[in-house]
Amino acid sequence: GLKTKAEYIESLRGMKPTVYMFGEKIESVVDNPRLRAGIEATGATYELAETEEYRPLIVTESPLIHEPVNRYTLPPSSIADLVARVKINRLMGTRVGTCFQRCTGLDCLSALSIVTYDIDAKHSTPYFKRFIEFLKHVQKNDLTCNAGVTDVKGDRSLAPHEQEDKDMYVRVVERNADGIVVRGAKAHQTGSLSSHEIIVLPTRALRKGDEDYALAFAIPNDTPGLIHVVGRSSLDTRQLDGCDLGNLHYSKYCPTVIFKDVFVPWERVFMCGEVEFAVEMVNRFSAYHRQSHGGCKSGKIDCMVGAALTMMDYNGTEKAGHLKQKAIEMVHRAETLYGCSLAASYEGKKEPSGTYFIDTVLANASKIHEGKEMSEAGRLLVDIAGGFVADLPSDRDLAIPEVGELLKKYLKGVASVPVEDRVKMYRLIEKLVMESADTISDIHGGGSPEAHRITILRESNLKAKKDAAKRLAGIESK
Ligand code: SF4
Repeated sequence: GLKTKAEYIESLRGMKPTVYMFGEKIESVVDNPRLRAGIEATGATYELAETEEYRPLIVTESPLIHEPVNRYTLPPSSIADLVARVKINRLMGTRVGTCFQRCTGLDCLSALSIVTYDIDAKHSTPYFKRFIEFLKHVQKNDLTCNAGVTDVKGDRSLAPHEQEDKDMYVRVVERNADGIVVRGAKAHQTGSLSSHEIIVLPTRALRKGDEDYALAFAIPNDTPGLIHVVGRSSLDTRQLDGCDLGNLHYSKYCPTVIFKDVFVPWERVFMCGEVEFAVEMVNRFSAYHRQSHGGCKSGKIDCMVGAALTMMDYNGTEKAGHLKQKAIEMVHRAETLYGCSLAASYEGKKEPSGTYFIDTVLANASKIHEGKEMSEAGRLLVDIAGGFVADLPSDRDLAIPEVGELLKKYLKGVASVPVEDRVKMYRLIEKLVMESADTISDIHGGGSPEAHRITILRESNLKAKKDAAKRLAGIESK
């Protein structure tokens, strides 16, 4: 059944993944403040599902197990489901102001629910049946899944099997009666430790010779041989420091996950060797995920707009026309992003497996928009807020007698606003703009900008556009 947030956190406490961070082994993931802030963000997807207000949006009945499930475990089986994906992501983005990590798993489940069916149709393989059993397990236990997609890639000019080191893409190194043994590494695994299951998909199109790399499978995050090494990011010691957090409750972290000869039983293998389907798996996953971004990031811009307007109140600039214009610029960026993602849902189509797939051109257009406009929204926010975002003294300095009272005197804005509130809002703005050098993750999250452009070029009906122009000009189409 559905898990409460407390049950979700306890279920993670019961897992024993191998984790390293800053040169140390982490024994308890849920008790580590940095990782816990990420777990809290995912935890919000459970918490809101418990509330009267949001439950109707987040919880629905699964046509598979005929029980109420959290939508983050539900591959879409209607246009309404596709639309709800965007709405819950915006809601969550606004609620936590950072990445809540659970949508990557849903995007993997959705891609697998289409592609395993397609592979079986061609090769009479048992992948779809296996996947459905796995999906039942995920839905019945209200699990969070993580997308293990981005391989480390080595020399980009070479195919996986041509690499000098054959482990630069996750691959099978052994097949036996019980399952397979896999080796390799996946980078940028945001939330791998907030997830119960890691779902691995290929990261690129594959061709003949790459059979060992054409892999999809799912394993618990504490499977023997899996090693999570949590990466550095901007502001990453604030939680450990317990000071100047900005966002008091939520944050994100991104491990590199190493597969050191990990055993995967056959019932958890959803593709193994069918190279020609790697491209479909990648395209489906990335289109879903690029659309997910449109929801969560429009929600994050909502927080940024709120911070900008509040700061204007605190600074006494709420009537400044040019700042109001900038706030409007931020709002329209959030709404166009949201609109584009919603449109990708409304233009969705039913696939042979019964799953609904979004419109890829609109999903990729939305992601290109986000890559550029999120950083613009951040720039506008800093412009509106003022320069203290860069170097505000620490709360610890505000707390000591030597300089605390002086700082409070000089950091004051509008007389009626407590100086502490102005400081808190500055900190939040720093976090919203700087987290994980957000410009980087907004550009590269969900694939590089060029990947989005290529998809648009490939999937758009360019001939129809040329024909339209030619018809107007009186040129016969060939
Ligand atoms: Fe989900 Fe990606 Fe947004 Fe994080 S950044 S909340 S993983 S869509």
